[in-house]
Amino acid sequence: MKVFKFGGASLKDAENITNVAHILQHYSAQSLLLVVSAMGKTTNALEEIVRAHSAGDTAKAYEHLEAVRKQHFALAAELFDPSDEIFTSLNDIFVEVEWVLEEPPHENFDYMYDQIVSVGELASSKIVTAFLIKKGFSACWLDVRGVLSTDNTYREARIDWAQTQAQMERIVKPMLATNSFVVTQGFIGSTSENFTTTLGREGSDYTAAIFSFCLNAESMTIWKDVAGVLTADPRIFENVTKIDRLSYREAIEMTYYGATVIHPKTIKPLQNKNIPLRVKSFLQPEANGTLITDDTEANYPPIIIVEKNQTLLHIASRDFSFIAEHHLSRLFSLF
Ligand code: ASP
Ligand code: MG
Repeated sequence: MKVFKFGGASLKDAENITNVAHILQHYSAQSLLLVVSAMGKTTNALEEIVRAHSAGDTAKAYEHLEAVRKQHFALAAELFDPSDEIFTSLNDIFVEVEWVLEEPPHENFDYMYDQIVSVGELASSKIVTAFLIKKGFSACWLDVRGVLSTDNTYREARIDWAQTQAQMERIVKPMLATNSFVVTQGFIGSTSENFTTTLGREGSDYTAAIFSFCLNAESMTIWKDVAGVLTADPRIFENVTKIDRLSYREAIEMTYYGATVIHPKTIKPLQNKNIPLRVKSFLQPEANGTLITDDTEANYPPIIIVEKNQTLLHIASRDFSFIAEHHLSRLFSLF
């Protein structure tokens, strides 16, 4: 089996979702696990709801919620008949946010954040699954929260690997045996008490890597709006070139230093099982993209990463007292 991850840009409107279904046509004879992000910039919009509610401006929170809801319904109206049950599913998902807003802001901001922001992936995965079924594919929807177990570090939840692995065997494998496509949510998980958690912004890549690891995938592919891993951000630099092959090591280093093309936690689980990672463009699905594996190429072109909003602190001592390292440790703990 293989794992595909489709990010927000690939699902941002009806045309793009149709394109995803088109890409998947070539894979309908295989067993695929599809991890999807929230549509377009939905996660940012949902964050606005959380911010407004926690600031006590619940009217504003409802306004933001209405905008997100409308956007999803408008998109669904382009893809489905008015009588389709997708509208009920979407309604049920957004009602959960209303329930949170009916209560006073939760004392634990991060907990409240996860309960609200997670609906983006729930909604997008419902739409994608329903659309694939409508197009005649054998597809089913998987609630990732029954599979991906985490601790309760809200907004940066850590995976319980043993529990997750057991649930993959019990729940996901049988689904893959009877469907071509199993569609699930990136970015979210669940505590042992069934509270929804999130894995950190842009965490859907990481989700796909967790599935790849636990299911021993043949390969994982991240579908993006760029041709692959580039030598620099094309929004900032001209004359960037695509890197055809990359080692896990180089990829980890790039993402660690701030390349946003892949979530930094993604590579390690793949490297541990030697699972190849492809980064491909959903706009040019036939093109090769970038292949990330364990073979190292000695010569990489220079790769440029720009980190914005950085502060450089230069700390110097007037004498040689820096030789006693405990000063450094005190400074670090202060920061
Ligand atoms: N939707 C989430 C975000 O925008 C996760 C993801 O896209 O990977 O951060
Ligand atoms: Mg995203």
